[in-house]
Amino acid sequence: MNRSHALLDPPALLDPAAAQQPDWPDPCALRDVVGELAAQPQLVSPRECDRLLARLASVAAGEAFLLQGGDCAETFAGATPETIERKVRILHQMAEILAANMNLPVVTVGRIAGQYGKPRSSATETKDGTVLPSYRGDAVNGTDFTAEARTPDPRRLLRAYRTAADTLVRLRELTGNVTLVREEFFTSHEALLLPYEVGLSRTDALTDRRFGTSGHMLWIGERTRKLDGAHVEFAAGICNPIGVKLGPTADPADVLTLIDRLDPDRQPGRLTLITRMGAGKIRDVLPPLVEKVTASAGSVAWVCDPMHGNTFSSPNGYKTRRFDDVLDEIVGFFEVHRALGTHPGGLHLELTGEAVTECVGGNPAVTMESLSRCYETACDPRLNRDQALELAVAVGYLART
Ligand code: PEP
Ligand code: MN
Repeated sequence: MNRSHALLDPPALLDPAAAQQPDWPDPCALRDVVGELAAQPQLVSPRECDRLLARLASVAAGEAFLLQGGDCAETFAGATPETIERKVRILHQMAEILAANMNLPVVTVGRIAGQYGKPRSSATETKDGTVLPSYRGDAVNGTDFTAEARTPDPRRLLRAYRTAADTLVRLRELTGNVTLVREEFFTSHEALLLPYEVGLSRTDALTDRRFGTSGHMLWIGERTRKLDGAHVEFAAGICNPIGVKLGPTADPADVLTLIDRLDPDRQPGRLTLITRMGAGKIRDVLPPLVEKVTASAGSVAWVCDPMHGNTFSSPNGYKTRRFDDVLDEIVGFFEVHRALGTHPGGLHLELTGEAVTECVGGNPAVTMESLSRCYETACDPRLNRDQALELAVAVGYLART
């Protein structure tokens, strides 16, 4: 039997080799939850996934630009109609600015309606001598630093499903049906929690193809892209558009093997490579990667995540990013692709429609001292509304020059 099908078999769900999975306390309860998810209606349809794939094929061909953005970690409490609306509005405003300046259609994809699971660099967090499991996203545990909140609870996967379903209702209400490409709105998240993703995978009755129905585009994170890992295996078995995050240590030969596994037919739109190198490294590490991939694999879309390689701790202890570093990584991304004759295909951003103070810089500037004023993220720092708009204007200018 094909190994990617074996993974869809419940016993493999608890594959101890799968990276970044919570230490679920009760395997039987987890299995019940997967069964319950499997009995729910799909959240997105194969037809919508195919439509996004066609849009991303335009991105790969240099005929469109991708704007992908939203929270680092969505929370259940944050999924209010107003917050969702402000998030969609900021993305659409950015898309309009980018489209007008680039003279290209912009494909808008939210990090939304499923971004409830987080990979962590440390499995535990220590405070005042107490060691507890790290927060792994609302689909797993709670942010409060108590044993009760931090114990992974598989029933949270069902709450994630319901919150995603409610969010999608709101998104569909806000975006309506398709008129202009720019008004389409798609969803995406990191396909991290395999019981959730496998539980929501369906075989399309019309085409007999398998899809992840938890979101239109699913991506594999920098920490879970191991060639022989369970996440790559899962993604290889579904037909959605797939993203892969690539950090500064990504080995070009490994990336070629990943492309062979995830996109053996070299189908334009299937694979988006999301580079997150850091402003100080992108000009050195991106060129050899782009050259090797272009020489032997062709049709991928290249997207810049200027957030995850630029995170640091402020003197007063906040995880933050500098607006100027974020912009500089994007400038480097455009420089590299222009020099190589490849298309700088898009941006992958952590942002919110709220007036938070999580990233420093921008105008009006958030300073290190003012980070504490409205620091609300459950995980990584996001651009606020003003910073996001300023970034879109700057990138639009960059694209014209
Ligand atoms: C993220 O997108 O929030 C994330 C964890 O990214 P990466 O896999 O690139 O570290
Ligand atoms: Mn993040």
